[in-house]
Amino acid sequence: MRSLKPDSVERLLTHLVRLPGVGNRTARALIEHLLTVDATEVEALAAALADLRRTIHLCSQCFLLTQEDPCPVCSDSGRDHGAILVIEEPTTAWAVEETHEYRGLYHALLGHLSPLHGVGPEDLTIDALLARVAAGSVREVILATNPTVEGETTALYIARRLADAGVDISRPASGIPVGGELAAVDRLTLAQALELRRKL
Ligand SMILES: [Zn+2]
Repeated sequence: MRSLKPDSVERLLTHLVRLPGVGNRTARALIEHLLTVDATEVEALAAALADLRRTIHLCSQCFLLTQEDPCPVCSDSGRDHGAILVIEEPTTAWAVEETHEYRGLYHALLGHLSPLHGVGPEDLTIDALLARVAAGSVREVILATNPTVEGETTALYIARRLADAGVDISRPASGIPVGGELAAVDRLTLAQALELRRKL
């Protein structure tokens, strides 16, 4: 029997269910919603989706998502260029910025070490981080990888590689639930964890 769903709906469903957290039911609800709101709203959404990949790049220095290169953080002379906060995913920086507690620079690793999944140091931006530290003006590296087994392993690996670099190395303190994700923690907890970071 031929599907009752028009082709354009089928096509959109196929793409929507591939998104994280979107199942069939959510996808159908989204399509119902898109068919009832103002057409200009839907066009604006489509344009924003198209723009996302056309205009957003990774900063060549810190690997945050940016429209300009270097990103606004790296090119801000008002920030503390002596501190680097190392995170797994670039979007974690958005959560950290919301705490208004951190004024240094970032470095996104673009993942974590995971031997089981074949992710080694060369698959992350670790060499670029070491090069930034070797350049000389960095005094402190805060290893804010996620408090998971992989995140801890990654932090320890980087701490070892930086052992002779002559910089302070620290890790955000308690408050972040083990197994959790840094970006999902509430602002106050995140701010406190950064404030109370411990030396590695
Ligand atoms: Zn940057």
